[in-house]
Amino acid sequence: MEKTLVLIKPDAVAKHYTGDIIKKYEEAGFRILAMKLLRMSQVLAKKHYAEHVGRPYYDDLEGFITSGPLVAMVLAGDDVVAAVRKLNGKTDPKEAEEGTIRKRFAASKSRNAVHASDSQANAEREIHIFFNEIEILD
Ligand code: ADP
Ligand code: MG
Repeated sequence: MEKTLVLIKPDAVAKHYTGDIIKKYEEAGFRILAMKLLRMSQVLAKKHYAEHVGRPYYDDLEGFITSGPLVAMVLAGDDVVAAVRKLNGKTDPKEAEEGTIRKRFAASKSRNAVHASDSQANAEREIHIFFNEIEILD
């Protein structure tokens, strides 16, 4: 079954939205294959956000994503990569559709509550940054 990596970002964890966000994914029918609470290091941030290193917003993004605990999860389901991106909503909550996680829980484009992989290839890459094979209950 197709898999994707989701992060509940430090802004959402700090605001105690973790349970409500997990509930959204469960209600949508996705299976949780792996889950952990962790704090990202700068090295991990540069690995996960490799394509963003050097962009004007990168230093802010790295400071934010390493600022406190986050929840990393592997979700599985039919067409899960695209389906989770859709449920998360647009990067900027001002553009996110009604009913999406970012519309409900994100404060701004840079404090936007959740991450999800944008392709199956990136999902494979990102999942293995956060989880070992034995941690994924496939
Ligand atoms: P997404 O998370 O929707 O896949 P991107 O991959 O484009 O979005 O960007 C990764 C993350 O970097 C975003 O979720 C956001 O937190 C941050 N980001 C991207 N672009 C900007 C920007 N122009 N200003 C501030 N933060 C940004
Ligand atoms: Mg992205």
